[in-house]
Order: sequence, then C-alpha cells, then structure tokens
Amino acid sequence: MDERAGSKQEARGRARVVVIGGGYAGVLAALRIVGKAARRRVPVAVALVNPSPQFVERIRLHELAAGRRQRRLELFRLLGAQVELVIGRVRTIDAAARAVEVELADGGGAAAEGVAAAGIAAADGGAAEAAVTRRLGYDALVYAPGSAADPEVVPGGREHAFTLADAASSRALHARLRAARDGDRVVVVGGGLTAIEAAAEIAEAFPALRVALAARGGVGEGLSERGRAYLGRALGELGVAVRTGVRAVRVDAGGLLVARGEAGDGAFERDAAERVAADIVVLAAGFRPAALAASSGLATVAGGRLVVDRWLRAPAHPEIWGVGDAAAALDGEGAPLRMGCATALPQATYAAEGIVAALAGDPQPPPFRFVFLFQCISLGRRRGLIQRVDPRDRPLERVLTGRPGAWAKELVCRFTVASLRVERLLSGTSSGPGKEPRRQGAADAAGAADYRRLPSGAAT
Ligand SMILES: Cc1cc2nc3c(=O)[nH]c(=O)nc-3n(C[C@H](O)[C@H](O)[C@H](O)COP(=O)(O)OP(=O)(O)OC[C@H]3O[C@@H](n4cnc5c(N)ncnc54)[C@H](O)[C@@H]3O)c2cc1C
Repeated sequence: MDERAGSKQEARGRARVVVIGGGYAGVLAALRIVGKAARRRVPVAVALVNPSPQFVERIRLHELAAGRRQRRLELFRLLGAQVELVIGRVRTIDAAARAVEVELADGGGAAAEGVAAAGIAAADGGAAEAAVTRRLGYDALVYAPGSAADPEVVPGGREHAFTLADAASSRALHARLRAARDGDRVVVVGGGLTAIEAAAEIAEAFPALRVALAARGGVGEGLSERGRAYLGRALGELGVAVRTGVRAVRVDAGGLLVARGEAGDGAFERDAAERVAADIVVLAAGFRPAALAASSGLATVAGGRLVVDRWLRAPAHPEIWGVGDAAAALDGEGAPLRMGCATALPQATYAAEGIVAALAGDPQPPPFRFVFLFQCISLGRRRGLIQRVDPRDRPLERVLTGRPGAWAKELVCRFTVASLRVERLLSGTSSGPGKEPRRQGAADAAGAADYRRLPSGAAT
C-alpha cells in the first residue's frame, strides 16, 4: 500500500485499493470489497483514509443538535482488521501516478492511538510521530469524501449562523440552544428534508423557544398532498412557524435579512430586504460536495461533484470510482442523483463489486441503476412521515405518519449502521448491482428488488 517499503500491511502481490472517506459510502465500499474479494479469491489490500477515528452518523446530526446522545462508533471496529485505517485527510489525488497524498492527523499520532488496540497498521508502520504526510499508491480508488455544510451560502453565515453537517457544528448548535432563554427565536433556513427535521427536532426538545422555518420555495415540496398536509399539521403542533418564498440575503448578530423572489442586482437586495429577527440562525439549505476532485484536477460538474460515467467511474481515469455525496452519479433520466445516505449506499455496493469484478478480469457489468422507494422524515421523536415515492423519487399518495412513521424512521436509522456491521460479518453475501433486465418494463422492478436486498438501500 505504502509507496515506500516497510508498511505493516504488506501489499506486494495484492491489488491496492484506497478508499477516501469513512462515511456511509466509504465504509460500506471498503467492507464489500474485502468480503467480495475474499469470496472470489482476488487478493486485495484495502486502506481507508478518514480524518477522524470516529464514524459520524450524519443522518442523526439534527438529533445531536437537539441533545440526544449519540453512540460512539469507532471506525476501526466497524471496519475490522481486514481494512487498514489511516487517520488523516487526503490532500491531493495524483491520478497520473495513481497515488494519494495523505496529511496524517496529529502527525500520525491519532492514527497510532486510534487503531493500536485492533492491531491495525499504524500510519507509516510505527514511525508515526515523525511522519506528517503519507503517500498511498493504488490500483483502484474509491472517491467517497462526502459533503459539508456551506456556511457561506448566505453572507455572514460563517460568523453568525450554525450548521448541521458535521458532529462539531451540531454540538456547537446544541450548546447554543441550551444557553438560550425562554422565548428566544430560532430560524432554520431551508425547506428541504434536513431543514424540516432540524426545525421539528429543536422545537420538540426546546418547547420554550420560538422556532421558525424560512424557505426560499415551499416546505416539503417533494411530498404528496397528503404528505404536505400531515407535515403542516405536525409542524403546527410543534409550534414551528413557516415562512415560504423568502430568500436569505444576509445573516448578522440580529438575525436574518430576507428578500422575496430570485437573486437580483444590489438595488433589489437593498429595496426588498426585510429583517427576520432571530437569536439563533441555523443554515440547512443544502450541502457542498468535497472539493478534492476539483483541486486534484479531476473533471467535476458545476458545484464540484466528481463526474462519473454510468459505471460510476471517472471517465478519464476508470480506476477511480466515485460514490456518495461527492460524486455525480446520474439517475435514469440523466440528472445527478440527489445527495443522501439512501443514494450513497447502493452506489458504494455497486462500485465495490465493480472493483472486484475489474480486478478479477470480468466483463463489464450492467451500468449502475437506482430506484427510489421512500422518503423517511423524522419530525421529532414522536412523529414521522414515510412518503412512498415512485422509482424516480416522485411522491405517490401513500404515507405513513404519526408514531408509526417515527418508529419506521428510527428503524431505518438503526438499520443503516447495523447493515455496516452485518456487512463486516457477512460481507459479500448479498446481491450485486443487478442483472440486465430482460425487458425494459422489468428494469425498475429488478433494480428495486436488488436494492431492497441491500443492507440499507433506498429506504433512508
Ligand atoms: C442532519 C442530516 C440529516 C440527514 N438525513 C438524511 C436522511 O434521512 N436520509 C438520507 O438519505 N440522507 C440524509 N442525510 C444526508 C446523508 O447524511 C449524506 O447524504 C451521507 O452522509 C452521504 O454519505 P457519504 O459517505 O457520501 O459522505 P459522508 O457521510 O459525508 O462521509 C464522508 C467522509 O469522508 C471524510 N472526508 C472528507 N474529506 C476527506 C478527505 N479529503 N480525505 C479523507 N476523508 C475525507 C469525511 O470526514 C467523512 O467522514 C442527512 C444529512 C444531515 C446532515
């Protein structure tokens, strides 16, 4: 694995696979590669690089912000001894040389400490203290560095707003919420699922605060009529005020400036801006994909997600597979799939199986296919909304609401992490990315069946 001699995980004679990112997609991909390769007797050495030794359950970060305790999930336990864990951040991908440059966390000390108990190779084979960077060569690369909040999506956001995209920002928000006084106003900016979940969770956990959602368009626009009706009722019961059709223009110490309509010139901003008083502003209006692909000179779509083909491979570098929030996998209609745990996990499985197939010299598999089944939304701990959708994520008039909806969402969250554990124990036993359908009409059904058999496929 290491380009220099002396790495504890001796990769000579084995294909080297490096996974960038220890989120949902990266962990599942690493485990699936190890398991599938073992079953097929393909010799591989897999290393996963992540800045922290902990796995972050991002789909629960709004719960963390509201004060719910989170399990501590150590990556080395999730991955087991078959995957070398490197604690650090990939600074650059040298695609021409097929190597990544890793800046080791804490000069390598964190890696040594975090993985020593499991007997996994410490970064740089024990000489960790001196090492700051490490170069890892690869035969196949899984690009899964995910996404982050973009506090600059609204000017002033970095200085005056909170976000929810990582554990540190969620904890900071929680500390601020706990310090708030009765009657303080919390404004969550955004109208998508993360904003809705965050507003509901905060309102339920802090009933003495006044919580509002400020959305550029509508709130829950991807829901059916019945889904929206239930959402409106639930938010009303929780005391969440909803303002739609307002665009956040600036955040400052007193709250938000909003404008109606689309972005215009400066004159419009000055004339139409209206103040929304807030003691706490939470930006939950979308995520920014990792910039690593673009900064490494790889082709990206607007916004920075890695361009991948229908087999999830970077077109100019077919030894690089892109999965999860950081890659622009396409849906059946040629549009990038929305970011989500639900979309990341099947991509990870597909890429992992594609890598093992490629290493084994198999013919090209059928392209990646994804079908949606549900949208699962938590509205605090006592209410939930499970929205049935068609394979293209369009809502159907079938919803599960109330406590059963909350239980279903909770089960999905538990199942997501449980599925990673199952993957480690029974890796490679579930089905692959789907056979070629015999006729077009069967395509979605075949895809759906495959992904339903996946540990946590299209259900989150
Ligand atoms: C509050 C909240 C609620 C959500 N709820 C849902 C939901 O209900 N359903 C759903 O489908 N999705 C949900 N999501 C979205 C979901 O969490 C993401 O889509 C999912 O985490 C993407 O998985 P990933 O593996 O691609 O990336 P991540 O989970 O972001 O993991 C990426 C990992 O890569 C690491 N990394 C980044 N850069 C580097 C680098 N240079 N080198 C090495 N490692 C790096 C990161 O630190 C991270 O550990 C929610 C998100 C939030 C914030």
